[in-house]
Amino acid sequence: MNQPDQQRVVIAGGGTAGWMAAAAISRLLHGRVEVTLVESSDIGTVGVGEATIPTLLFFHKLLKIDEQAFMAATNATFKLGINFENWRSLNHAYLHAFGATGKDCWAAGFQHFWRRGLDLGLSEDFGQYCLERVAAEAEKFAHLPGNGLNYAFHIDATRYAGFLRELAGQAGVTRIDATIERVNVREQDGFIESLTLDNGQTLSGDLFIDCTGFRGLLIEKALHTGYEDWSQWLLCDSAVAMQTESVEAPLPYTRCIAREAGWQWRIPLQSRVGNGLVYCSNYLSDERATEILQQNINGNPLNSPRVIKFRPGRRLKQWNRNCVAIGLSSGFIEPLESTSIHLIQQGIVRLLRMFPHEGIEQAVVDEYNKQTVFEMERIRDFIILHYKVTERTDSPFWQHCKQMDVPDSLAQRLALFEKTGQIHRENNELFDDSWQQVMIGQGMVPKGYHPIADTMTERELADFLGHIKHNIHQTVARLPLHQQYLNSYCR
Ligand code: FAD
Repeated sequence: MNQPDQQRVVIAGGGTAGWMAAAAISRLLHGRVEVTLVESSDIGTVGVGEATIPTLLFFHKLLKIDEQAFMAATNATFKLGINFENWRSLNHAYLHAFGATGKDCWAAGFQHFWRRGLDLGLSEDFGQYCLERVAAEAEKFAHLPGNGLNYAFHIDATRYAGFLRELAGQAGVTRIDATIERVNVREQDGFIESLTLDNGQTLSGDLFIDCTGFRGLLIEKALHTGYEDWSQWLLCDSAVAMQTESVEAPLPYTRCIAREAGWQWRIPLQSRVGNGLVYCSNYLSDERATEILQQNINGNPLNSPRVIKFRPGRRLKQWNRNCVAIGLSSGFIEPLESTSIHLIQQGIVRLLRMFPHEGIEQAVVDEYNKQTVFEMERIRDFIILHYKVTERTDSPFWQHCKQMDVPDSLAQRLALFEKTGQIHRENNELFDDSWQQVMIGQGMVPKGYHPIADTMTERELADFLGHIKHNIHQTVARLPLHQQYLNSYCR
């Protein structure tokens, strides 16, 4: 029963976004809000979204989620990074791992010392100085004390939504299985008043969370919020996905294999593999994309290939009036660095911090939108980097990517790193060490380095680099194989 001072929160949509929001809000604002979620089993969910990044661990900590229970429920494996194959050039690969590379000295980043070592013939491949990268390549994993090994998960997205649904149910969320037929908007202020469902029910609320996926039923179809299109930089607008049975031990990393007009993912779960091809429809038809995917899978298919269309970009406002868009309804940056679930979680945590207990304040709404846009644009730039910095010219798609103009914010970062080896840093950015891993991995080696690296003698520099590498390899030698660890941890 709704108490008089309880806010009525209505969540429209029950995919990953809807159930993450329902679980978090009901558990953390328990007793202060009444949460109802409406989802349509006739419509279903997007059904993809299986690779995550380490920030998910914070979300789980906040919700007091037991990791072993979560892994068992979602068929999960551990993920230490992403292997980018054929991105810089055909037959070249580098692994973008979750950890930091080398050891920072307070005055200059490790990359400056590594860069000088290159000139002197002392440095090895940049990734050899990153623990997570070496562990991933050795297919090893274990929890190390003090978060010694940064990790995330590969999960079954459908099962994850089911797992969160259970938690949300225990925390009092009411679930309605029905299709929303109409969104009723108040005339005087344009706020959403209620949703009319196909079962005849009318669902009223104070705050509405739009988790209806690409449809954006509330935020766009009802409130006409508008969309900023990023397709001049992010060319891919389609994906084809299918699952296969496992034929080998699951790797502790995602594979991202560049193809003639896009890229293919392979996400290993405990008992199956998620596969897909993300592509640009200007350069590749759906039929040809499906053929390429089918030619490049291992193991028997478990379902038929499914084509998904999308438009890269962001909603102009993620919070508009009394509606907050979370998930695909808020915008979409392609899944190359597995950032969508992270953005969902960020949206939820931000909303919790700014929750309108006393009614909606425009200043709060503006701040929410400002922070969200900041975050999305930084991720957008990071994704564009992978396409722009390449040596590939073997297809019209890659020629276009190599030559295209990029946002000024990215152009400045690239110039700074290329000329000086310095990394542009802003507060609260998701990616940090990742920038240099990817820039170097894609073939951009800084022309210069910080002169502080010259204060070491050659002998000292060789020892410095050698010790880091030695310690990493010693640690990795003691780790069990990922499969072995999964067998004992996920029993
Ligand atoms: P959906 O899953 O589409 O859910 C929408 C919900 O709204 C459903 O429950 C539906 O029934 C309901 N709904 C819609 N209309 C109505 C209506 N009229 N009435 C009632 N209910 C309605 N993210 C990652 O983090 N990692 C990845 O590896 C990754 N890979 C991806 C690959 C591809 C090709 C794509 C397209 C996305 C990927 N994503 C990934 C993003 C990820 O899939 C989504 O962010 C995540 O699944 C959340 O989706 P959602 O809940 O917003 O939408």
